[in-house]
Amino acid sequence: MGNMLDVLFSVEKKCPVCKENFDVTRVRSRLVLIKQDSDFCSYYKDINPYYYKIWMCPHCGYAAQDANFEDILPAAAEKVKKFFAGRDIQIDLSGKRSREQGIVSHQLAIVCGELAGVPASRLAGMHLRLGWLYRETQQTMQEQATLIKAVEYYEIALEKENMPIGSMTELTITYLIGDLLRRTGASDKALLYLSKVVSSPQAKQEKRIADLARDVWQDMRAESRMKEASVQQS
Ligand SMILES: [Zn+2]
Repeated sequence: MGNMLDVLFSVEKKCPVCKENFDVTRVRSRLVLIKQDSDFCSYYKDINPYYYKIWMCPHCGYAAQDANFEDILPAAAEKVKKFFAGRDIQIDLSGKRSREQGIVSHQLAIVCGELAGVPASRLAGMHLRLGWLYRETQQTMQEQATLIKAVEYYEIALEKENMPIGSMTELTITYLIGDLLRRTGASDKALLYLSKVVSSPQAKQEKRIADLARDVWQDMRAESRMKEASVQQS
């Protein structure tokens, strides 16, 4: 953790809801990737950048993902303002954040996102990341419940939003839904999504995603064969 201070820096932002200024803590981009899970949860040396992905205004309580923080319509801002009015928020998420603060920031941003009616893909992404924060300390029940919400929102996004969404192509989202379904025990539905990826004409262009889908699919086949074998033995 030696050079944590070099990794974090702060920037002044203006809140689009209450128009007050406040400092947000950001993470420098030169991080060293250690490993990545099959649902793209990434692990970096010395720091978890997901703690800092949500910016929160300490004056009014508005919270949103860094890239979309300023992107809120006046009517939605009014809703957020009304929701927090009279509530004593007392949450300061400035400076270095703990994992718990990372979790709280995501929960707040999800509340604000639902109030503001942001696209399903954004709510999906925030639930996915919140699930990863629970994974960090093996809070399996919370992780599973949160990933199930992520799947619900990604399914809506697939149906209603224009693709790609940021860097996520339709194939990537289809794969991700499949992997999240597998992680939450919905094996049959997971296989349906994964086979869609593998058999898609797009699979040739997006080889990495197709390979990931094939790996997960094969793991699932192996697991179910092992289960069948142990049922036959007993
Ligand atoms: Zn504010």
